[in-house]
Amino acid sequence: MADNSPRKLANPLLGAHMSIAGGMDKAVQRASDVGCGCVQVFTKNNNQWKAKSIEPEVATRFRDALKQLDVRSPLSHSSYLINLASPDNALWKRSIDAMVIELLRASQLGIPYVVVHPGAYTSSTESRGLRRIIRALNEVHRQTVALDSICLLENTAGQGTCLGWQFEQLAQLLDGVKQPDRLGVCIDTCHAFAAGYPLATESDYRETTRALKRLVGISRIKAIHVNDSKRELGSRVDRHEHIGIGKIGRPAFARLMNDRRFQEIPMYLETPKEDHPKTGKPWDVVNLARLRRMIGRPIPRH
Ligand SMILES: [Zn+2]
Ligand SMILES: [Zn+2]
Repeated sequence: MADNSPRKLANPLLGAHMSIAGGMDKAVQRASDVGCGCVQVFTKNNNQWKAKSIEPEVATRFRDALKQLDVRSPLSHSSYLINLASPDNALWKRSIDAMVIELLRASQLGIPYVVVHPGAYTSSTESRGLRRIIRALNEVHRQTVALDSICLLENTAGQGTCLGWQFEQLAQLLDGVKQPDRLGVCIDTCHAFAAGYPLATESDYRETTRALKRLVGISRIKAIHVNDSKRELGSRVDRHEHIGIGKIGRPAFARLMNDRRFQEIPMYLETPKEDHPKTGKPWDVVNLARLRRMIGRPIPRH
């Protein structure tokens, strides 16, 4: 018999990026303390190339903390120094090596995905940059066959010569690599909006998610960064804002929270770590509550 009751929406898994200061497992504790269901971390200092290798006890503590505190879908974000599009051979090779190490570390920690910004072509050109990234990813894949962790390309705001701000560019990268099944995508709402993808009204949201579906494919999206934007549509400037008080606004996030196509994809806040001025609560708590309150409710008008 057909079930005529309204289809229940599974709550999307919501979490945030957390600092690993004091130990990898501390990030999981911080996530749990503010009520995260999932967590994103850097597995090393994100502004340095070097890192000491992960001791087995560190990995065990991290895995145990996830289990004990019921924090799921751990996600790694790679170093900001990595530039797989660089025309400079030394930097390009260093970036490939660093990406391989990122995947190795993630693998040791039981983290399935590592987010990477596709890269900036700097003194080269867009098409050369894209070809460079494809070659780099093929090399990373060659060196990491034995690992369980894979890269997620994140869409960018399109600052300077950064690639991956247009969904077409992500599509080119996904189509260009030899092993596309070893590559996924992470979509950042702030970056998409800053790159010029409208989200504010219902038709904006529909248009942008349709483009995403057509060019990237929903099944390729393994993580979502939920950030509002301090800067306006198409500004190509990447400044994250708390949910609902930026230029994207509440309706878009309410639509995302109630969009069945995305409900199985873990979502992570990357909003500033500060306390709410009125309540004194950590903003992560406030943002998570805001998002959770939207689930199953009518879309607010503004
Ligand atoms: Zn992001
Ligand atoms: Zn950003």
